[in-house]
Amino acid sequence: MNFFDSLIFETEKLTSDFLGNEFPKGTPWKDCGESQIIMRRDTAFELEGVGFNLVTSSDVSDGIILIGDDLDKIKDNRRFARITLVQIDNIGDEQKEYNLIKKIDYVKYHTFPDGYMMRSTSRSHKEAVRVSKKAIADGADFCGIGSLLIDKYKEIPEVKAVKVIFITASEADYPETERIAEKNYAIAETLNHVMNNIVFDCKTCNLKAICDEVEGMKELHFNKADK
Ligand code: SF4
Repeated sequence: MNFFDSLIFETEKLTSDFLGNEFPKGTPWKDCGESQIIMRRDTAFELEGVGFNLVTSSDVSDGIILIGDDLDKIKDNRRFARITLVQIDNIGDEQKEYNLIKKIDYVKYHTFPDGYMMRSTSRSHKEAVRVSKKAIADGADFCGIGSLLIDKYKEIPEVKAVKVIFITASEADYPETERIAEKNYAIAETLNHVMNNIVFDCKTCNLKAICDEVEGMKELHFNKADK
């Protein structure tokens, strides 16, 4: 699986421009086990931006990177980004890899960090987080939240390693994170079309730009349509 590798490269380039703190996976923050509503009066602040996964069979090392302030230093609402690099086994079966990408995407809907309410929709790369005053008082930090996410992704047997990148720095290049997120979404949508649509007509297809750019996508559709 290498459809998203160019975006991983772009993400690494983006993050290397900023001084970040890197943590090994530590003690996971508590998971509530079910969705939690944090009322406005109980909210310390909200983070709003993008949250998405980049799945690859190339090497990724477990850990958390934080660019910007940790939760205890944030006083007001601000922009943010979460980018999760997920290394999977080299399966060599496109259908299984496609199913795996979907399964990995569902992890965020089944992870409920205590006092850290994540909201997103399956048809968007946007992610908003509401953090409770109690979570801050109890010592919540991105290392714990990231470690919980790593544990959750790794409940999927084919997931080998996970790196969670959190960005909260005001000077970060958010338009670029947005662009990478949109591209990621477009590649995932194209993959969705390729795996589920037997119609094969590149001349009239509105996904041609992505297929021209992402190595192997066109061949994959050609092979699927041929079966
Ligand atoms: S291979 Fe051709 S028909 Fe298939 S998604 Fe890409 S551009 Fe469209």
